[in-house]
Order: sequence, then C-alpha cells, then structure tokens
Amino acid sequence: MRFSKLYAPTLKNAPADADIKSIELLIRGGFIRKIASGVFTYLPLGWKVIKKIENIVREEMDDIGIQEMLMPIIQPAEMWQQTGRWDDYGPEMMKVKDRHERYFTLGPTHEEITTSIMKNELISYKQMPMAIYQITNKYRDEIRPRFGLLRSREFIMKDGYSFHTSDESLDEYYKLFYGAYEKILERMQLEFYAVQADSGTIGGNGSHEFQVLADSGESDIYYCEKCSYAATDEKAVSGKKFIYNSEDEKELKETETPNVKTIDEVSEFLKITKEKIVKSILLKGRNGWVLALIRGDFELNLSKIRAIVKDQTLDLGDPGEIWNVFNVETGFVGPVGLKNVKVIADISTENMKNFVTGANKQGTHFVNVNFKRDFKVDIFEDIRVIEEGEECPVCGNKMKMKKGIEVGQVFKLGTKYSEAMEAYYTDEKGISHPYIMGCYGWGISRTMAAIVEQLNDGNGILWPLSVAPFEITVINAATKDEEATEISENIYNYLREKNHEVIIDDRNVSPGFKFKDNDLIGIPLKVIVGKGIKEGIVELKLRTDKESEKVQFKDTDELYSKIKEKLSSYIPKNR
Ligand code: ATP
Ligand code: MG
Repeated sequence: MRFSKLYAPTLKNAPADADIKSIELLIRGGFIRKIASGVFTYLPLGWKVIKKIENIVREEMDDIGIQEMLMPIIQPAEMWQQTGRWDDYGPEMMKVKDRHERYFTLGPTHEEITTSIMKNELISYKQMPMAIYQITNKYRDEIRPRFGLLRSREFIMKDGYSFHTSDESLDEYYKLFYGAYEKILERMQLEFYAVQADSGTIGGNGSHEFQVLADSGESDIYYCEKCSYAATDEKAVSGKKFIYNSEDEKELKETETPNVKTIDEVSEFLKITKEKIVKSILLKGRNGWVLALIRGDFELNLSKIRAIVKDQTLDLGDPGEIWNVFNVETGFVGPVGLKNVKVIADISTENMKNFVTGANKQGTHFVNVNFKRDFKVDIFEDIRVIEEGEECPVCGNKMKMKKGIEVGQVFKLGTKYSEAMEAYYTDEKGISHPYIMGCYGWGISRTMAAIVEQLNDGNGILWPLSVAPFEITVINAATKDEEATEISENIYNYLREKNHEVIIDDRNVSPGFKFKDNDLIGIPLKVIVGKGIKEGIVELKLRTDKESEKVQFKDTDELYSKIKEKLSSYIPKNR
C-alpha cells in the first residue's frame, strides 16, 4: 500500500466529544468515524485492524474445533418472550416492527436463536457435545453509549454456544474456550486478567470475564498476588470478618432528625460513627419491592443483590414512587414496620446491636434498633462492594485492585434456555432431557479500543504486531532525491515479496510530518530512507524506540535480516 493512495484522513486535533483516549486516537488516526451516538464507520485502517482481531479469534476457535456459522441479526420477539428476556433485557433491546405489526429485535445476543435452531436439529445424545460460533454485529441500546467503541450501540461480537448432555462435558468445553481466550490475548501481547464474574442477564451458574488492564477501564478487578483469586467488583467477595463488641439490647427510641438524610449527616447529627448506622435502600423489581440493608460505611452492590433475587430488572426505587407507596422520603426509610418488602441484609450487619435506621416518618430516625426484636430479615447475604486491602477469600492475603476493560466473557448456562424453549434430546434409554449449554462472547470492536487504551503514548497508538494495520512503514525521507526514492521503492517491493504487510510513505511532504502521521497510526517499525543512503545507511526505528538505529548494509538481504531482528524484539509497551 502507498500512503499517497491510502484513505486514512488523519486529524491534528481530537474531536470535541472524544471522552476517552481510544476514541480520540482512532478518530485522529483515520481508523473510524462517528455516525451517531454509539454508531461508527470503520475506515480502511480500522477495518484492517478489525479483520486481524477477527482472524486471531477465528483461528483460536477453529483450533479448539468450534465451527463457524452465521445467524440473522433480526430476531422474532416470540423467542425472547418464551425465555422472559423480552422484558428482562428491557429498553436495552433495539426493537423494530414489520408491516404486519410483528415485533422483532436487532439481536443484542443470540442464545434464543441458537437454542431454537438446535431444538430441531440436535435430537440425540449421539450428536453431542457440539459447539458453534459466529462473528456478527450486535445491537444494544445502552443507557449511556460512551467511550467510543468500548460501549457502543452497534458493535461486532464473536459469540459461541455449546450443547452437552452432562456437566462434565460442559466443564471440558468451558476450559477449551477459556484457554483459547487466554491465547487470543497473548497473541495480542496484552496485559490481562481472567476473573470470576457475575452472569447478569445472560444467566447461568458460572462465569469468567477476560479483562484487559487499562486505567480508563470501567471494571474494578480485585485480585490476590499470593494465590490466583481474581474477580470483578460485581462478584468479588472478601474474607473480612465482622466482629462487634457484645452489648445488651437497649430500648428502641424514635429521635427527631429534621432534614438529616444522608449517612454523613446522620453520623454528624447523632454523633455516632457510620458503623453504627444501617442504610435502608428500597429497590423495585418485577416481583415487587426489596429492602437492602447495608452498614453505613459500605456501598450496595446491585449486581450481587440482583443475582440473589434472580431478577435483573431490580433497580433503585424511584423517590416519587417510594413516596406514593410508602409515604416516606428515601432519606428516612427503615426496616422497622415497613410492610410488603423482602428484606435482604448484608452479612456485615448480622451481629450488629443497637444501630440507627430511618423510622419511615419524615425527619425521624430510630436509635437502638435490633434484629429479630424490631424487624425480621428474610436473608443475610453478601450484597456490598468490597474495598482494596480487604482479605482474599481464599488465602487471607490483602487484595489489590486494578481497572480493566472486559473484552470477553464465558458462561455456564446450564438448562436455562433449553428448558424455557423446550429444547430436548433423548439419551441412550430414550428418555428426554433439556440440553446443558454454555455460551462464550468476545467483543471484537471493543478489543480494538481496549488495545489502544492499554497501548498508547503522547504521539499515538502502539499496535501489537499481530493486529497492526501494517507491520512496517518505509519512509522516504528525501522524496526529491532520486537514489533515496529508488532504494525506498526497492525495499518496499522486497518486503512485499517477503509477504510483510508494508506501506511506503511516498507523499511529497516533510519527513517530520510523515513521522508524526506514522506514529499516530502506530505502525511498529519504520525503515527510514533519507540522505544517509549516499553512505549506504538507512535508519530503523521501532514505534517504542526513542532513537533510531543507523544500519549500514551491502544488499537488501542483509538489511532484511536486521529488519527481522528488530521486528522480533518489538514489545508494545507504554514506557
Ligand atoms: P458490559 O458489562 O460491559 O456491558 P456485557 O457483560 O453486557 O458487557 P456480554 O453480554 O458478556 O457483555 O457480551 C460479550 C462481549 O461483547 C463483552 O465481553 C464485550 O467485549 C462486548 N460488548 C458488550 N457490550 C458492548 C458494547 N455496548 N459495545 C461494545 N462491545 C460490547
Ligand atoms: Mg459480559
């Protein structure tokens, strides 16, 4: 490819609405353009990178024996109604109506379609285990589409599904996908963690996420350096023990706390520590109201409580609705006397005595509240967000936290979808059972942005070799010099013959301008042909090098061995 012909409109400045480094650099580098909120076009450079990521994923899928196919993006509503996800997924689903007023969704994921196909095809135990995958666009009307390709509304995903007759067989495939996912990230030379994860609206009973480390990531990863424990904030538990001084139960008292609503205000007003307060948070889901109780110094973890009640629609109650139903402002809600709610208390509160809660009355709190005597808890469970420095649940060592970007997730689905959609096979004895399923997602377009988040410097992107749009750029730094022009063309042609992905910067612009553009685009190796060619010298410069290396060479074969040496030493790292 010639730079003079390349359609890669680079920009000097970031677009005003670029809210994260990757979107800034991908737009400035001429990789993508924004069409609407969360909707993008891939220009030739961007599409080249996407195809390389796709191919790495494809090769690793093929390597573990999974077969590629393609399912429709447009999916009939009935299938989603059958599994209950038409409502569960809610407004995140893009819905369309055909001319006969029939509803469809632009697939946010494909469990329903896959199960409906296999239902008619996989009828005997002899056909299993079986696994397929596809690479296609997905649609999610995210509440906040942001951070460019990291959270967009149209994105490219690889999704795989497996079908089994036993849990052991599912475990085996789960491990295969897990291993393939590690290889994908290793081939991209990325720093990552595979962590225990919550399974969200997908459901099931076991899940891991693959997180690319980046300070800008939306996920908090808690990990232990001593053992291998690692989990996302949505799932992470800690070994912290909650021990309280033994106290006798004191008399329950109502106390006036006018305009004192937040935990900080209550703590200050009543002159007590936050550990003596229990926060009462009303949540509403499809099965009604839930009251979450959390110690004053901790935060509620929505993912954990959703998993406990098995309702992904559960969310913080609307203050107006809470007022209408319970006749109280959110700041004064409390467990004592509150009717028609399921009460879930965090395990950190279990042995608390004589604590403070709202009194379900304007401007009032209760002091000396106690479990059992004053109200009943339905379950004590871990529903809080843990903090860095808490004890590892496995070995007790202090845990650390890093930020990550989820690029892939694997799930053990069990029989959730096959039961809902009546997808059965018959065993050796002719008895029918629902399939046991697994599903395995990978965000192709998000990966492109995650790479840029982890690997960039002040000048632009540092692509890993395996996904760089070009491995090598031959820069003609003396376009007016005939010899430099001829030799740069020779080197370019030589490298093409050796099957390298190479571009020649043959534009009639200054060398400085070329260096800037090539750095921004992030090509791993520059071969710079300038005035030095009179002495038989070219310069080699890796994208991560501060200085270039002058190389004297007799013939192109000799230069080529130097180029190969340089390329093999390339480690994309932000130094
Ligand atoms: P998140 O928690 O970030 O919203 P998710 O857990 O809902 O993602 P999955 O259903 O596991 O996502 O989808 C599989 C993969 O698809 C994710 O690991 C991620 O890489 C990618 N993905 C999900 N949502 C988006 C999005 N809005 N934009 C780009 N990629 C996405
Ligand atoms: Mg996920």
